[in-house]
Amino acid sequence: MADYLIWHNHKVSRKDREKIKNQKGCALWFTGLSGSGKSTIANEVEYRLNKKGYHTYLLDGDNLRYGLNKDLGFSYKDRVENIRRVAEVAKLFVDAGIIVLVAFISPFLKEREKAKKIIGKENFIEIFVDTPLEECMKRDPKGLYKKALNKEITEFTGIDSPYEPPENPDIHIETMGISVEEAVKEILGFLIGRGIII
Ligand code: ADP
Repeated sequence: MADYLIWHNHKVSRKDREKIKNQKGCALWFTGLSGSGKSTIANEVEYRLNKKGYHTYLLDGDNLRYGLNKDLGFSYKDRVENIRRVAEVAKLFVDAGIIVLVAFISPFLKEREKAKKIIGKENFIEIFVDTPLEECMKRDPKGLYKKALNKEITEFTGIDSPYEPPENPDIHIETMGISVEEAVKEILGFLIGRGIII
C-alpha cells in the first residue's frame, strides 16, 4: 500500500507553528515503573508550563488505553505496538509545535530507542523516574501491584514482566531523594538549559 502513498508537504511548517506559539515543540518522555511517579511529576510539569504560557499536552498511558489503544493488552507484542502508536502521536504534537509530555511505563529499551527514532532524537528528552520496586509496591496508588501479586493481572511490569532502565537518560529523577516540587524544578531547569523555554 505504501507504494501508492505520497507525502504531502504542507504550506504551514513546524517552524511557522512554533513561531506563533513562541516556543519549540519537543517530547518529554517519562519512563519508569508503575507507581514510580511519572503521572504525578508530568502533571505538575505540565501545570507549571501552562501557567508560564506554554502550549502543552500530556499523553498518559492509562488514558490512551481508553481510546486509541483500547484494542491493545499487555503482551510483549501489544506493548510494542502501544509505544509505536504513542511515539507516532507524540511526533505529530511536536510537529504542531507543542511540548508533549508522554507518561508511559515504556519498559523496553529497544522500544524507547524506536520511539526516539520516530520522534527524532533532537526532539526527544528521556526522563527516567527512578523509584525502587519495593517503594512502588508500597505506594501502589492504583492497587495494581496487589492485583499482580494475587495473579489477578498478569504480565505486570516489575512482577512478571521486565523493566529495562534507561542507560543514559537526559534527566534522572530518583524520587526517594527528592520531592515532586524538586523534580519539577530539575526538569524545568533542563528545558531552560536546552533553550526550549525561557
Ligand atoms: P505512575 O504514573 O508512574 O504510575 P503515579 O504518578 O500514578 O505513578 O503514582 C505515584 C505515587 O507516588 C503518587 O501517589 C505520588 O503522590 C507518590 N509519590 C510520593 N513521592 C513522590 C515523588 N517524590 N515523586 C513522585 N511521586 C511521588
